[in-house]
Amino acid sequence: MIIDLRSDTVTKPTKGMLEAMIQAKVGDDVYKEDPTVNVLEERLAKMFGKPKALFFPTGTMANQTAIKLHTNPGDQVICDKDAHIYNYEGGGASFNSGVSCKLLQGHRGMFTAEQVVEAINPPDFYHSPLTALVEVENTANRGGGSCWDFEEMKKIKSVCNTHNLGYHLDGARIWNALVAKKETAKDYGNLFDTISVCLSKGLGCPIGSVLIGDETIMQHAIRIRKILGGGMRQVGYLAAAGIYALDNHVERLAEDHKKAKEIGQVLNELPFIKKVEPVETNIIIFELQNKTDEPKFLNKLQEKNIRLSGMGQGKLRIVTHLDYTDLMHDSFLSVLKAIKL
Ligand SMILES: *Cc1c(COP(=O)(O)O)cnc(C)c1O
Repeated sequence: MIIDLRSDTVTKPTKGMLEAMIQAKVGDDVYKEDPTVNVLEERLAKMFGKPKALFFPTGTMANQTAIKLHTNPGDQVICDKDAHIYNYEGGGASFNSGVSCKLLQGHRGMFTAEQVVEAINPPDFYHSPLTALVEVENTANRGGGSCWDFEEMKKIKSVCNTHNLGYHLDGARIWNALVAKKETAKDYGNLFDTISVCLSKGLGCPIGSVLIGDETIMQHAIRIRKILGGGMRQVGYLAAAGIYALDNHVERLAEDHKKAKEIGQVLNELPFIKKVEPVETNIIIFELQNKTDEPKFLNKLQEKNIRLSGMGQGKLRIVTHLDYTDLMHDSFLSVLKAIKL
């Protein structure tokens, strides 16, 4: 038994999901003739109360498309220093859109409306890049699966309105936030111009993200996706996995959150652990007392077929997910309790 806690992307499709995929009706999606893709897009658009949604192979491509839709070359995007679009998309914001990022020193991947106001360059001061977009990540990955305060996101929206800025949500793990905070997708649809969501994280699909947004801005999304090489053919097989996941794998995220909290509690009691970030969803970020003990700690876990990932700067990350069973959970907790460094 391998207990893989590196990421919620390591899941494999369940039997039910595979059956749904095999039975999918498909067509050429480049002609917009794949009925299953069309159903998935319509369903997500409706769910978020937006007119348009477009299926993407990855969350990165969906985010990159959103950045392109909101900006012109030379513009600036405001985001947290820990944002996925800045740290983990290969420099795509500058490569694809020719924009720079103004990084905010947020707390656990989240920032305030006040910080946004301070970061906006005055539009008539032509020496500075033109601020065009504010990007928020919920839940925040490097923040430890932290959930934004909805009121703060609302305040930022009003700043965006005042300064004529686009507002994009990287909702790769929005499902975790919805379940943890008992919020609705429509709440988010009301606030953001564009929203990217992942089907391949907590929801357990092998692939797939969707960009959801307002009519005018989404008009050009399909062209940008084409330019990025993201036109796909009979991908109803993949969209079917997404539909299945929306039906079956959203509410169950509460189980992942419960397990993550239990892991956090055990970690908190271990003498060689310095700090565990508050656990809000399915991600646990923690630090060892001695950074130099990291290889030893990871080795001891590896001996028991347990994998987790280092995040640099002495931080370690555990992510619970669909394929992390009750049996694995019990086994992992007892291994943890028995470790001596
Ligand atoms: C995983 C992830 C994405 C998208 O990643 P892909 O691997 O390209 O699907 C975007 N944002 C966040 C916060 C993520 O965790």
